[in-house]
Amino acid sequence: MTEKVVIIGSGPAGFSAAIYAARASLTPLLFEGTIQAEMIPLGQLAYTTEVENYAGFPTGDIRAFVESAVDKDRHYNLPPVPAGHERDGRPHYAVQGVELMELMKQQALNFGTRVLGEDIVEVDFSSQPFKLTSNTGQIIETETVIIATGARANYMGLPSEETYKNRGVSACAVCDGALPRFRNKPLVVVGGGDSAVEEATFLTKFASKVMIVHRRDELRASKIMQNRAFDDPKLEILWNTTVDEVLGSDTDGVTGVRLNSSIGEPPREVEASGMFLAIGHTPNTDFLQGKLEMNDKGYLRWTESFRTKTSVEGVFAAGDVADDYYKQAITSAGTGCMAALDAERYLAEQGK
Ligand code: NAP
Repeated sequence: MTEKVVIIGSGPAGFSAAIYAARASLTPLLFEGTIQAEMIPLGQLAYTTEVENYAGFPTGDIRAFVESAVDKDRHYNLPPVPAGHERDGRPHYAVQGVELMELMKQQALNFGTRVLGEDIVEVDFSSQPFKLTSNTGQIIETETVIIATGARANYMGLPSEETYKNRGVSACAVCDGALPRFRNKPLVVVGGGDSAVEEATFLTKFASKVMIVHRRDELRASKIMQNRAFDDPKLEILWNTTVDEVLGSDTDGVTGVRLNSSIGEPPREVEASGMFLAIGHTPNTDFLQGKLEMNDKGYLRWTESFRTKTSVEGVFAAGDVADDYYKQAITSAGTGCMAALDAERYLAEQGK
């Protein structure tokens, strides 16, 4: 059987595309992916705690709604309700990343989306119908494809960074910053872009002090973010500096970092109970190398302005895999919708 629409990816872009495609009676097949390093089903939001900026989800008794909407057999996947967020004796908090994604998944399932827990590892776009191979060896034929595989956070590649992952090393301040191990302790953020400043500013809510370690003598971040960093008394910028080693122990996790100077000053150690990476993201496009046009950072290129078309007719891209700029859940969802509409129109034009 040839599918009409196959969606690869299970974040906001993938499931929004699925909702639209399913409601257009295209019975989409969505590949949710498997658990891998820095990639999990339901996308990057699944690493996040409360999401305060997704329109339509003000704080409230979210859990009651989520439990009423999501199939009972997936309730095990829901994170605990955040402690201490109550009003009138009931939970009162902003939707958590996993809850938001389980809601999107449910909405897609309700309209007939089929979801498979496999990865697409190979694509053949050379002729119609396209052929996709999954990690189990299954080959799927399809008229259109929507790529919504997102992007993953970058790490520096130090062995010590790997040793202390989830024991003080994190690539998501928003997800992990409020953990007890970081409270009232000095922390380090690596990077000099908007993400570094945003994450560092966020961490100052919990930490005793936050040091941004940046390899150059000027920030890449926008002026407004730079001013935010310069004006924050709990934030210090260590210029011309790189992290040489993450220091720690089995019992305590991260206890500090050893820093190198990029302008020849002597190395030094600073105390820190956490190190947060904010050195950019890598789009999940490895399996598409040589198959679709990408930009110099490996993000898929939209070949027509404000359309989700890629360099292959019938293949569309949505969400962070084609966006190195906005990278928001809501923009991903928006482009997921666009990709489904583009796929639907393409099929109609082809008379399929
Ligand atoms: P980015 O702008 O690419 O910045 C990455 C930073 O990490 C750069 O300062 C870079 O240094 C540094 N870096 C890269 N590799 C490194 C390595 N191996 N070791 C040490 N440092 C390294 O990425 P981003 O900050 O994630 O932002 C991405 C996009 O999202 C941008 O367009 C940004 O404006 C946008 N964004 C906006 C907001 C906001 O407006 N609120 C928030 C977050 C992100 P160099 O500067 O030396 O290259």
